[in-house]
Amino acid sequence: MTAGERPLSGRHALVTGGGRGIGAAIARALLEQGAAVSLLGRDRSTLEAAAREMSALGEVACFTADVADPDAVSAAFTDAAARGAIDILVNNAGQAHSAPFLKTDAKLWRDMLSVNLEGTFHCTQAALPGMLDKGWGRIVNVASTAGLTGYAYVSAYCAAKHGVIGLTRALALELAAKGVTVNAVCPGYTDTDMVRETVANIVQKTARSAEQARAELAAGNPQKRLVAPEEVANAVVWLCLPQSAAMNGQAIAVAGGEVM
Ligand code: NAP
Repeated sequence: MTAGERPLSGRHALVTGGGRGIGAAIARALLEQGAAVSLLGRDRSTLEAAAREMSALGEVACFTADVADPDAVSAAFTDAAARGAIDILVNNAGQAHSAPFLKTDAKLWRDMLSVNLEGTFHCTQAALPGMLDKGWGRIVNVASTAGLTGYAYVSAYCAAKHGVIGLTRALALELAAKGVTVNAVCPGYTDTDMVRETVANIVQKTARSAEQARAELAAGNPQKRLVAPEEVANAVVWLCLPQSAAMNGQAIAVAGGEVM
């Protein structure tokens, strides 16, 4: 396939949390489909290292912002839009902190809502006007199976990810006749730093070894394994393709059948 034949050639995609984990896999997959990609995150050195590694695949640039900070998001999106209006927004930046409900203090609660839910709100507000001007856009929110069902000890994260799915569904209807689709992808436990941190947390708080903790997380997936970041990226990119225009308001689990 030549560059001219790639389905996302000429499109500008911004991926929040694009410097590592699932976001980096999404960025690579979008570049492979011909999109120019902007990576956004808090840590410039991580972003620059990822951009260097991805530059062989296509046009990539990086921008720093904390997605929970609306002013920083607005400034970073203005800078990114100098490369061209954003056609594809992947709201992937997220954090998952766990605690029993009565140990979930106001800070943990606010942190989970502000990064996972309000971050999605701020970035979508920044990118949407350009999509509406063009009459074409794709918004994909990386939620979680925790947006579709409950899990013990992550009430704040679950509430935030359920919120992301509610936002996805409402906005999908609001934009349905405007050429912009809004969908969510809901990974199960996926092999990234986030799971490594969860394993370290389990090891610290229980008598389990790292191998046991990882095996327990994998056991919740009917395929008895962790999901690969590239499998999540595959679903995200498929939703961004021109021929996926009828996909709207969906929350698609990528979790080996864990939720259905
Ligand atoms: P990860 O490896 O921990 O990476 C998280 C990414 O988000 C990093 O690029 C990080 O970049 C960025 N980020 C975090 N807080 C941010 C903030 N306040 N502002 C801007 N960027 C921020 O996690 P991951 O596993 O790839 O997770 C990606 C998404 O998938 C998250 O939304 C997560 O909830 C979701 N998810 C993950 C799993 C899983 O098992 N891994 C399962 C279900 C859903 P910086 O640190 O440079 O800012």
